[in-house]
Amino acid sequence: MPGHHSAMPDFLPALTGCFAQPVAENPTVAMMEAAFAHHSLHCRYINMEVPPEKLADAVRGAKAQGYIGFNCSLPHKVAVIEHLDGLADSARIIGAVNCAVKRGEQWIGENTDGQGFLESLTPLVPPAGQHMVLFGAGGAARAIAVELALAGATRITLVNRDAARGEALAAHLNAQTRCAASFVPWQGEFTLPADAGIVVNATSIGLFPNVNGRVEVVVDSFRPDMIVADVIPNPPRTRFLQEAEAAGCRTLDGLGMLVNQGAKNIEYWLGVSPDKAVMRAALERVFGV
Ligand code: NDP
Repeated sequence: MPGHHSAMPDFLPALTGCFAQPVAENPTVAMMEAAFAHHSLHCRYINMEVPPEKLADAVRGAKAQGYIGFNCSLPHKVAVIEHLDGLADSARIIGAVNCAVKRGEQWIGENTDGQGFLESLTPLVPPAGQHMVLFGAGGAARAIAVELALAGATRITLVNRDAARGEALAAHLNAQTRCAASFVPWQGEFTLPADAGIVVNATSIGLFPNVNGRVEVVVDSFRPDMIVADVIPNPPRTRFLQEAEAAGCRTLDGLGMLVNQGAKNIEYWLGVSPDKAVMRAALERVFGV
């Protein structure tokens, strides 16, 4: 019979994507679609511009249209929770969700930002028993702090410009985890304590186009045995990481964290461990690095 093929065509991809506002400049789609193509996964990732008052409809639409899951970025990471059936432990303590996963008939909220960071960090230094110095007290800092506390870090020193925000995060960590957190106001250059094994910039300092922004730290207080990480994905080689490298520290960049976070999403949605090198290369093309 003309046109007859033994295998039925499949024109229905598995659907996922990101709800955010604004979303047009969110590059996650580039690494996700690169992974789908590389692994011949019949799946699409779509950026969707969703204003806060339309979030409930957007989630209802995703459920109705058979989405396998979705990411949500600003401003929906907290508001989405009431539209889900449950939360993973770390997402519950963080109080924010960036990845919704359909498990059976349940929609569960995960927070893969901190998980992505933990995955980058663990091969260099397992966090159990470590003292971490963390600059920042916003969403990224909160996700990293909770994940490391749950992974057994014993001390976290939070350094932030806004004292109220820093103190609130320290109190939250002390109440919700076994980790001992303390807050230090950020005034002038911060001197890193000698026993800190992990030092992380989780502020937005250094993000393109403000690439000369400086994380105010006493350069002489870096020690070669410290692992120094930055959440800034673009440019990946921030001024902060360059200063740490010059002092002999091993470093982890924010692009790696972003890739690991994206890979975790794919593992949750599809049960596939994607090739991270392919995903990183796709983002490097977008960022022109
Ligand atoms: P928030 O707005 O929630 O927090 C921003 C933080 O940066 C606050 O602690 C703020 O301090 C601090 N900050 C900003 N500017 C300055 C400054 N000039 N001096 C001192 N502190 C400053 O943002 P997020 O936590 O959501 O995001 C922070 C960064 O993390 C972003 O650049 C984002 O790109 C990156 N990120 C990377 C991810 C990855 O996978 N690589 C994942 C998620 C985020 P204060 O409280 O005093 O205002």
